[in-house]
Amino acid sequence: MKSRLLQSAILVAITLGMVVNGPAQAQKSSELGTADKAFRDPKIAAALQQVSAARIQANIEKLVSFGTRSTLSAQDPASLAAGRGIGAARQWIKAEFERYSKDCGGCLEVKSDSFTEEPADRIPKPTEITNVYAVLKGTDAENAKRIVLVTGHYDSRNSDTLDITGDAPGANDDGSGTAVSLESARVLSKLKFPATIIFLAVAGEEQGLNGSHHFAQMAKEQDQGWQLEAVLNNDIVGGDKSAGQDHSVVRLFSEGLPAAATERDISRIRGLGGENDSGSRQLARYIADIGRTYDVGVKPMLVFRLDRYLRGGDHYSFNQQGFSAVRFTEFREDFHHQHQNVRTENGIDYGDTPKFVDFDYVARVARLNAATLASLASAPAPPADVHLLTKDLENDSTLTWNASPGGRAAEYEVLWRATTSPEWEHLQKIGSATRITLKLSKDNVIFAVRAVDREGHRSLPVVPVPER
Ligand SMILES: [Zn+2]
Repeated sequence: MKSRLLQSAILVAITLGMVVNGPAQAQKSSELGTADKAFRDPKIAAALQQVSAARIQANIEKLVSFGTRSTLSAQDPASLAAGRGIGAARQWIKAEFERYSKDCGGCLEVKSDSFTEEPADRIPKPTEITNVYAVLKGTDAENAKRIVLVTGHYDSRNSDTLDITGDAPGANDDGSGTAVSLESARVLSKLKFPATIIFLAVAGEEQGLNGSHHFAQMAKEQDQGWQLEAVLNNDIVGGDKSAGQDHSVVRLFSEGLPAAATERDISRIRGLGGENDSGSRQLARYIADIGRTYDVGVKPMLVFRLDRYLRGGDHYSFNQQGFSAVRFTEFREDFHHQHQNVRTENGIDYGDTPKFVDFDYVARVARLNAATLASLASAPAPPADVHLLTKDLENDSTLTWNASPGGRAAEYEVLWRATTSPEWEHLQKIGSATRITLKLSKDNVIFAVRAVDREGHRSLPVVPVPER
């Protein structure tokens, strides 16, 4: 898939209020493909080169060395000293974040989020659960409030979710995702961004998404709610080496109807055909664009559903609190290699051990994550209060919005696509204006507006709400 935006960009320079022609006339533009080359930040491209498959391998092997990382396993001082159980694993992850921070002059704030989970289905007794995270605070006072986040779960399980002592190596599920979070932190902590990036490792995923649920709730409730713009959840991104794997692709799941939509939201979505335009889906499309812009070696394959059949993941905890969150997962899972005791039976190797993990593949997925985090943290805030005027019956479409908060937007771009198209197809540069009338029928396309900074970093697009 080549960049449709690039191929079909409409490049006629326009000024405020000028009416713009539709796609048919736009093909006449002689500047096609020059004024709107997908922006590639050389600083980000250079940082991606630093992502190391060898380090990712070492980190996954280290996580496996703790024997089990069951959320219910030991976390007392003796187990920490012995290096076995979830407590020892957590201590190591924290020390690793602290080491990266030391290398960047203390640029990361390393924190723990601990709480006691009361007994539930897969939690037989009150259990202390701890998420570990590192904060790379934004350098711009206004934009530092904006946050993008990457997460993986460091807990593991074997055939029995309640087995607290048996080996549960969890190399792929989810040592791989934890390694993506760690390696993104190591590489991106060497750069500075106006907005904040959080690198997270959660526990309790296998017991019922407990860690992510607690963290997402904290993000929603603390300080009147964090401005969490994007959550990237990596779970099973090891590129299992069994037959049928496609190492050039990573699946990217995103919810359609938002989990947090109110009855009123649902009614509007139903009325206007907004089922394919959740915030999470805009994030997925943004990542698809990043995948075409930076040569990371793996292409995101958009899957327009929340998750796989019968399965769930930590992105859903964030969706439930109203945040845009997506899930990365390898193209083809081998179910002999997850949630299984390590053993050989009838010539089949069971268990989630490092020998099945393709560390180069994990590194490619880490590059895609890091490129997305860096792009979003460099970009201006999305435009606010984007509206589509609908008070009159007319064939033109007028969009209005408020300036991107935080003062970093140099210009705005309107995107649109056919209602049947999965990704944005057309682009119109608007300059610094905050209102535009396009000679296109709002009944036939879906619009969005995004903010762009002086260098070319683009915000997430915002789909307008109708205004009567
Ligand atoms: Zn998992």
